[in-house]
Amino acid sequence: MIEFQKHSLIQICSDVCINNKNLEILDDSEYIFFKKNDSNVNIYSGYMRNCQRCKHSSTSKIKLNSRPPFLFIKSIETNININDIPKNINVDGLNYSFLCTTIHKRDHFRAIFEIKNNLYLVNDLNKTMMPNIRAFAEIEPIIMNLPTTYSLFFLD
Ligand SMILES: [Zn+2]
Repeated sequence: MIEFQKHSLIQICSDVCINNKNLEILDDSEYIFFKKNDSNVNIYSGYMRNCQRCKHSSTSKIKLNSRPPFLFIKSIETNININDIPKNINVDGLNYSFLCTTIHKRDHFRAIFEIKNNLYLVNDLNKTMMPNIRAFAEIEPIIMNLPTTYSLFFLD
């Protein structure tokens, strides 16, 4: 389903290690995540393990196989809300801009789009589109605190 964003993961461990930035861990990853550290939300590959060689904890860098027109990013935990989602992200040297995110409430999805600095809410239940979510948020402030699930970005 998200084969278009297939990528390799390159290990990042300690500066002196021969594996650092040299070792390809996986060559067929598809999922890319958002992860919150303190109050910052960052791109996360989903990979975290100790390096076999230097024993340092290692992360990985995403190396895209192509230039995907869209990136589909999954919030890895439920602590990421609409205000946390960055407007722009850089993955493997390519810049992407926010298009929409989905939020999960009870048993249905709502999608929030950003078009020309306005946020739009699309509700799958009553098939409505709320033109100005900031005004809506004043009526129902909880919406800004609901966990996001998936976000879509497009290539600049
Ligand atoms: Zn290492």
